[in-house]
Amino acid sequence: MSGLPDILIPDAFIGGVWQRAEKRFAVTNPANGEVLAEVPDLDADGAREAVAAAEAAGHGWKKRTAKERATLLRAWFDAIMAHQEDLARLMTLEQGKPLAESRGEVAYGASFVEFYAEEAKRMAGETLPGHGVDKRILVFREPIGVVAAVTPWNFPLAMITRKCAPALAAGCTVVIKPAEATPLTALAVARLAELAGLPAGVINVVTASQPAPIGEVLTTDPRVRKFSFTGSTPVGKRLLAQCAGTVKKVSLELGGNAPFIVFDDADLDAAVEGAVASKYRNSGQTCVCTNRFLVQSGVYDAFVEKLAKRVAQLNVGNGLEEGVMQGPLINQAAVEKVESHIADALEKGGRLVCGGKPHALGGTFFEPTIIADVTDDMRVAREETFGPLAPVFRFETDDEAVAMANATEFGLAAYFYARDYRRIWHVMEGLEYGMVAVNEGILSTELAPFGGVKESGLGREGSRHGLDEFTELKYVCVGGL
Ligand code: NAD
Repeated sequence: MSGLPDILIPDAFIGGVWQRAEKRFAVTNPANGEVLAEVPDLDADGAREAVAAAEAAGHGWKKRTAKERATLLRAWFDAIMAHQEDLARLMTLEQGKPLAESRGEVAYGASFVEFYAEEAKRMAGETLPGHGVDKRILVFREPIGVVAAVTPWNFPLAMITRKCAPALAAGCTVVIKPAEATPLTALAVARLAELAGLPAGVINVVTASQPAPIGEVLTTDPRVRKFSFTGSTPVGKRLLAQCAGTVKKVSLELGGNAPFIVFDDADLDAAVEGAVASKYRNSGQTCVCTNRFLVQSGVYDAFVEKLAKRVAQLNVGNGLEEGVMQGPLINQAAVEKVESHIADALEKGGRLVCGGKPHALGGTFFEPTIIADVTDDMRVAREETFGPLAPVFRFETDDEAVAMANATEFGLAAYFYARDYRRIWHVMEGLEYGMVAVNEGILSTELAPFGGVKESGLGREGSRHGLDEFTELKYVCVGGL
């Protein structure tokens, strides 16, 4: 257990109590397989206990003034930033991403806490013209109640704060079920909430090696009024169906198949920088990572050549080492998926430009890969690879590029590089995506609404819209005046 920060208590956190458990499961470092810690392996009873604790805490929490909640959230933000280095190291140890990216995620995750500490004070209702001279209409925004948050391993901190901060700001209490690969960062951030003075039961964390029994409780217990999920589309669909029985309000942040379009008038050097950031960050394991590069014929060869030169500079290794730009993949199954996409593309006529196989470092390290001459009969056209593979498609016209970009059931993030302003407007309007980046490779910020259309999800996180996900409107008709 060497190298773990003091702020980590590797136990479940329920009702303000750190609970040990007989049954535990190991959390390992994907860079070398080392066991980092063991955490409680809870079942449905643990989940029900956490829901009860959240419900009990909710009565007091929602009655606090918005300013009191804001002050506590601000203290939590300060605590996270004061421990940025501890949290970043812990994240790299259990998730594998380079330390610089982990530091970035801590700051990004904390930014939601800071933003919603401010936003808590602006949760306004409305008064509307009445429908009779003796009537008035009041609209209150009220906290929805207990929130269940189920989060993935690729952003072990930010996916938690992006849900918890607006929920807490609105006056809700939360039960978090972190991914089984990365529960330690979740527990550390909950410990910081406790140290910051958040009352017992307002944040609860249940850890488990088998998510299904916990998920069953969180999606069917009538005390849970809001279910907020980030993860894969198949799991999200199943959990959405499970929520139907109790008609919960649901938010889903699911998978993507992001296109990155390079037009022939683009600044190619800027496009290559954006391409590297949007493709190889987190070893390609990001829901908004580019999955398909669509490049116009006139600049196709030049773009592939420049991208290959840039990708050759990506230093692969243990994320804790200085200068490493790409860490390991999360597990062997992730490696196999990338390998199967590469094999499929090469079999069907793709041209390997660089990489293409597991890295000489062994384990789950993988070479940054580019495949050119990719066509839409290949699996990479439709499926999220979630790894460091850049498949490059070719197109001729703007309409063809937009049609190719939209030919997917996903609609999370899209990127394009161009200079002509008419083209920029038309393409931006034609893309069926929740988020579009123009001449930019990175778009996530707490200031903007993050989320997808089609099968990429429901609802938004971040910005003032993120708060709406955790409130209900109550219309009050005052008559007889
Ligand atoms: P996953 O769907 O396998 O798991 C996500 C979470 O769901 C984990 O906590 C897991 O334990 C839990 N889970 C799985 N089965 C469950 C069940 N039956 N009941 C309750 N919980 C269950 O996804 P993952 O592999 O952890 O994450 C990768 C996926 O997440 C990718 O598809 C990626 O695109 C997506 N993602 C989306 C966003 C976004 O904001 N749209 C952000 C990050 C990741």
